Amino acid sequence: MSYQITTRFAPSPTGAPHIGNIRTAIFAWVYARSHKGRFLLRIEDTDRSREVSGATEAIIDSLEWLKLDWDQNPKFSNLIFQSQRLAIYQKYAEELVKKGCAYVCTCSEERLKELRERQIAAKQPPKYDGCCRGKIQNSKFKIQNYVIRLKVPHEGQTEFFDIIRGKVKFENNLIDDQVLLKSDGYPTYHLANVVDDHLMGVTHVLRAEEWLSSTPKHLLLYKFFGWKPPRFAHLPMILGKDRSKLSKRHRAVSLLEYKKQGYLQEAIFNYLILLGWRPQTDQEIFSRLEIIKQFSLERVQKSPAIFDQEKLDWLNGWYIRQMSASELLDRLIEYGQKFDENKTRSLKI
Ligand code: GLU
Ligand code: ZN
Repeated sequence: MSYQITTRFAPSPTGAPHIGNIRTAIFAWVYARSHKGRFLLRIEDTDRSREVSGATEAIIDSLEWLKLDWDQNPKFSNLIFQSQRLAIYQKYAEELVKKGCAYVCTCSEERLKELRERQIAAKQPPKYDGCCRGKIQNSKFKIQNYVIRLKVPHEGQTEFFDIIRGKVKFENNLIDDQVLLKSDGYPTYHLANVVDDHLMGVTHVLRAEEWLSSTPKHLLLYKFFGWKPPRFAHLPMILGKDRSKLSKRHRAVSLLEYKKQGYLQEAIFNYLILLGWRPQTDQEIFSRLEIIKQFSLERVQKSPAIFDQEKLDWLNGWYIRQMSASELLDRLIEYGQKFDENKTRSLKI
């Protein structure tokens, strides 16, 4: 079977996707398209407490607006919802327990809370103390209210080569015995993410830098399952011009808010690809085709990318000025129909 580059966008439906989420989707899409590979979409809805209704629709609307088409994985439906695959994750979690790579933990919430408080008071990083690690495992899981935890080795290091960051190394004894399966039968992000990336044939994981510290846990999972891990590329953070974390203060709102404000998808796409990717020349305006031809992960920077609203406005103006009068009119009508009934009427006259 020939090797086909496969990337994915795996958002959690916890709110309207913002600029940072969509920048990840754009990079993963461009990388797949530039290698004639596949770009898949997976909704990571396993944290029921954080789910926001309408968020999945907003994700799809955002991708469609930016024309980030996703492919169908031959073995899956077009769109995967992790919440519909609970039995699969449970099976894999149990497999790890049988192999001795994970264990059942029956610690109560109170005990864990107390432990956390003690550790914080002692200025130690909060971490499970391994209390249930050595207990005899009940292979039939007849007990109730248990979680399954990853049995992280106490010695050694977990290292990997990040395409953007180079060699990254973590001491195993600092890695928490991560919960893989929660007491409600739902997997945590870590388990579901690894199982699905493997089953979906993902070859390249492009995601935000905030996930870097989760990667050693994921690599241990790949190792314990006996699976070949994908390659990882952790995209640089996005900061405001004042170098603080991007927030509403910087006018950086949800992607669909930009759509509502009348920004063109061409400008947003062009702008976001430059948030971390450095082209070979000082060219700033790129057609989609040019980006697909020129994009490479080797030219993605490690240091944070700075969000510059003025530059986005300038690019947006440039794209508007390139349009013929009739094209501009069409776009205005389309926009008006969507967002402003009154304007539509006057434009049609
Ligand atoms: N569900 C995670 C998110 O919302 C996915 C992270 C990843 O790509 O592994 O960012
Ligand atoms: Zn326990």
